[in-house]
Amino acid sequence: MASPKHSILGKTVLGRPIECLYFSPPDYVKSKATAILFGAIHGDEPIGVHCLGKLCVELMAMPPGRPTWIIPALNLDGLAVGTKNNANDVDLNRSFGSNNWSGEHKPGYYPGSSAEAEPEAQVLSKLIADTGATRLIALHSPFRTVNWDGAGEELATRMGELNGYGASCDIGYPTPGSFGSKYGVDQQCEVITLEIPPLDDEQAWLQNRSALRYCVDLPS
Ligand SMILES: [Zn+2]
Repeated sequence: MASPKHSILGKTVLGRPIECLYFSPPDYVKSKATAILFGAIHGDEPIGVHCLGKLCVELMAMPPGRPTWIIPALNLDGLAVGTKNNANDVDLNRSFGSNNWSGEHKPGYYPGSSAEAEPEAQVLSKLIADTGATRLIALHSPFRTVNWDGAGEELATRMGELNGYGASCDIGYPTPGSFGSKYGVDQQCEVITLEIPPLDDEQAWLQNRSALRYCVDLPS
């Protein structure tokens, strides 16, 4: 039984601690690119939190094949009350400091007073900078696709085969200030937006178990 390293990365707008688990691989694969998986950047999408919790349990039984950080829930304030946005009513997935960040927005998509003004976005960006992670997996719902940005096509294609959702590179509408814009389009990381359709928690996990294990190099 491997025990992960637990840390608090920072706090949300309302002071909730943002928790993270680090799972270390066996020594001979430590040179592989570091992965970060995170759920509930949108607080009304709890299905990803459940799936990452289940993945953590499996990683305690068997270490990953690459350094792996998991943030089960980023937008804890939104999650607590079932809102997409954070406690400042910012859509965190429009708040990243990408080249296409814009203060203009549609109703409900407020990107914040400036890029990465929100503590939840700062926490995630700092973890990526500190770890040098380049495999970045965001869990969303309720669509049914494995979307990629930047260098994520190969990974998305395999994940889309494993969960049966297929892979796509265009979500169908512009996403200024999105996580994928900053880390995929601008920085050419392997960015995956895993969209899980409406299912009960256990069905969602069973449908995505192999794809999520694949991301962290566990045998599927
Ligand atoms: Zn979402």
